[in-house]
Amino acid sequence: MDISVVIPLFNEDESIPDLYAWLVRVLKTMGVDYELLFVNDGSTDRSWTLIEELAASDPSVHGIDFRRNYGKSAALYCGFARAEGDVVITMDADLQDSPDEIPGLYRMIKEEGYDLVSGYKQKRYDPLSKTLPTKLFNATARRVSGIHNLHDFNCGLKAYRKDVVKNIEVYGEMHRYIPYLAKNAGFAKIGEKVVQHQARKYGHTKFGGWNRFFNGYLDLISLWFLNSFGRKPMHVFGFLGSLMFFIGLVAVMIVGGIKLTAICRGVPAPLVTDSPYFYISLTMMLLGTQLFLAGFLGELISRNSEGRNHYQIQKEV
Ligand code: UDP
Ligand code: MG
Repeated sequence: MDISVVIPLFNEDESIPDLYAWLVRVLKTMGVDYELLFVNDGSTDRSWTLIEELAASDPSVHGIDFRRNYGKSAALYCGFARAEGDVVITMDADLQDSPDEIPGLYRMIKEEGYDLVSGYKQKRYDPLSKTLPTKLFNATARRVSGIHNLHDFNCGLKAYRKDVVKNIEVYGEMHRYIPYLAKNAGFAKIGEKVVQHQARKYGHTKFGGWNRFFNGYLDLISLWFLNSFGRKPMHVFGFLGSLMFFIGLVAVMIVGGIKLTAICRGVPAPLVTDSPYFYISLTMMLLGTQLFLAGFLGELISRNSEGRNHYQIQKEV
């Protein structure tokens, strides 16, 4: 099998027939062995019926039907698990991504040695309320991930070497960061290809509103955190905890020092609770101990987790 096309979809029945015809046209001219994997993410329209019909008439069509809507990440994850092609292409079902890009993407993986190639919708046909947050989001993602050559992390149209999709775990809303997941899994050659984009012809976007923006950032932070400290929580919590405890200790010494000098001089000593240092020492020492304990607990959990000794081996001779 040369190519698996994975298509997550949620209520896209109007687009499916056109998309299918277009995909088949392109793939047939390429003369490759292919499969089309439609993952129906709990659609409530006729999407699944259409997929069943296609699968009945065309053996290269496979459908996976979720019992309810789990989200795009879940749909991609299940598609990835099932894909058999050497190159896996993902694309949205809404006809915004063009199947005509598949030959170019395929070539970059097969001949130019890329592990992952992401589409880049240089000229984008979406409202400003979508494109503006996306710009900010991509700038942050580039910084955090260190993948500086990607303009568009969340483009639905991407191509992967099979190894990549079998070795990353897309969960939650992490489909936005697949290049980062791939990089963390050790796939270093990540590229980009400018692709044609079209306005949505049918239906409406499933990712509107500003909360997608906030959730996107929170996901990015957790990903960064997991990747940097997930396996060594003590390094961050222990450090912060010790630092705070140390500040608290210094504050205690200042409070004690003030009291002592007063006693030595024979003047009435001020109440410790009058000194701001007293409160600083109290909070800092408490916080410090808590953070230190958090780090220790994190360390215990990660040491007992199943994945603690999971390493991806590329080759053995
Ligand atoms: N999608 C999905 N599950 C969801 C939301 C979206 O499978 O819960 C699919 C959707 O049907 C489409 C793709 O993910 O094929 C991208 O969604 P959409 O076009 O709404 O996103 P946009 O292009 O507006 O960012
Ligand atoms: Mg779309």
